[in-house]
Amino acid sequence: MPPTIRLLSPATVNRIAAGEVIERPAAAVKELVENALDAGATRIEVILTAGGIERIDVIDDGCGIPESQLALAIERHATSKLADEALVRIATLGFRGEALPSIGAAAKLTLISRPAGQESAARITVAGGAVGEVTPAAGQTGTRAIVEDLFYATPARKKFLRTPRAEADAAERAVWRLALSAPHVAFRLVSDERVMFDVPAQGEPARVAALFGRETASAMLPLDAEREGVRLTGLAAPASLTRATMALQSFVVNGRPVLDPHLRMSLRLAYRDVIASGRHPVAALRLEVPEEALDVNVHPAKTELRFADANGIRSLVMGAIGRLLDRPVSLATAPQAFPSLSLRPPASASYAAYAPPTPSPAARGFAESEFAAFAPPTARQITPDPALTAHPLGAPVAQILDTYILSVASDGALVITDQHAAHERLTEERLRAEFSSGRVASQPLLVPVVVDLSPADAMRLLAQSEILSRLGLEIEPFGPGAVLVRSLPAALKNPDAAGLLHDLAEEFAEHDTPAALEAHLDAALARLACHRSIRAGRRLTPEEMSALLRDMESTPRAATCSHGRPTFLKLSRADLEKMFGRRGM
Ligand code: ADP
Ligand code: MG
Repeated sequence: MPPTIRLLSPATVNRIAAGEVIERPAAAVKELVENALDAGATRIEVILTAGGIERIDVIDDGCGIPESQLALAIERHATSKLADEALVRIATLGFRGEALPSIGAAAKLTLISRPAGQESAARITVAGGAVGEVTPAAGQTGTRAIVEDLFYATPARKKFLRTPRAEADAAERAVWRLALSAPHVAFRLVSDERVMFDVPAQGEPARVAALFGRETASAMLPLDAEREGVRLTGLAAPASLTRATMALQSFVVNGRPVLDPHLRMSLRLAYRDVIASGRHPVAALRLEVPEEALDVNVHPAKTELRFADANGIRSLVMGAIGRLLDRPVSLATAPQAFPSLSLRPPASASYAAYAPPTPSPAARGFAESEFAAFAPPTARQITPDPALTAHPLGAPVAQILDTYILSVASDGALVITDQHAAHERLTEERLRAEFSSGRVASQPLLVPVVVDLSPADAMRLLAQSEILSRLGLEIEPFGPGAVLVRSLPAALKNPDAAGLLHDLAEEFAEHDTPAALEAHLDAALARLACHRSIRAGRRLTPEEMSALLRDMESTPRAATCSHGRPTFLKLSRADLEKMFGRRGM
């Protein structure tokens, strides 16, 4: 006899759904806060006990649920949010009608609600799927949802819970993300009696400042870009400000906070060659996408999306961040000298009107050979040149250890510049500009050079010979394991051809897919730049130091070298005062 097919009871269906929709306390918190936002709340309070495992309270001042509909609200697939069931234009955060019944199946859920105009509040409780009576209760206009003993009715799920601290982290982050998505709504989050944040209704920059930290936010720059009907706004940090985790990244799509791998990857690619590996960019980004270009119905928790034009979104993010990173050096983008002291970046107002000078010829042509004839140290001044202190990176006053340039800006800030890192970035940016204008100057060699490589490396390079020739590097096969070099990029001023080719082969070996062509180029440019830059240990004249600083000011992304390390550090007068204890920390 084959087994009989029967319909599952609604209670079992709800428990199964609970496993999908509410996989941990953070998910319940998210659903309840989304309901409050959908209800048009202007103020939302979340109170967590033991990370939400013991109890979650979400209190809002939204539209409320009429007494007559309380019982319906906790039924599966009951929603007030889908007018026409087309599932195409979805403006609210919820729409499946699954959250409340799922929570009620796994825990004890109480709703106390009072729409404006209803004489008093009413209450309903559903525990482990068992629905109680609707009874009168005391309550303000709006809704209070209380979840107690999450997963007591689904012990299998309870076993997968992590420590209350880990659950609290996740739940707090869920509220943090929602609060970032809705700056116009006041939020208060209390976790185990600690007020985590309490923010009024405010504008987006103020909300980012409140939730990312004021100092971080003050270094972030606004962006605003559009591409084929998709608008990207928000704030992103310069390359000099990074984090060891992705914790300070927020993405909001059509008002919905999302954890979208595609957006994360786009952000990562945008910063790819300006921050060190293992570090993560800091950004709060908001996308407005036409509803028909989006499918939010993909994931039960609705945190993942499907973009109709994923490549377009990536170009938009990379383009906007790229332009932001291309802004010339200013005080606002100066790396902090001692991040652990959390110094405030100096005010940049006085530099707002500063126009970068055209790069001086002296800084253009640095090459090892040009320094060979240098006389012993001459780079010592006594007072900074007042004509130069007005520049963001100031007037050079000394070269330290033949490696660092010390300069002073008009506000008394001390700037320490790593001459090699700085010059490497300048060279890379120059090559990049030449490359994108299609004119990398190439220097033919009078006597072509034969470079011996491993057969694999030789093949790798020859496979890329077309790109290499666009970089000013002409190579030809020369028997197994060797290539003939006919010309080199002129900007590099006679580099060591063998070293250069070995380096490039290594680079191509690392990124050996045709799809990563762009990555090849950026990485290749960085490798090329490294081969030409002035070394630490070279003595510079005051004029050369100044020229280098002026060039940095007019060069995009000059605050970090191509390996993501800072090219300069800045100590403001206030920083010095703090460090010497002349002012409170
Ligand atoms: P969904 O949000 O997908 O509609 P839920 O199960 O989360 O499904 O909620 C069911 C319904 O209960 C909602 O459609 C809404 O009408 C009502 N509701 C839930 N929470 C609130 C709230 N905080 N304020 C007003 N109405 C609410
Ligand atoms: Mg909902």
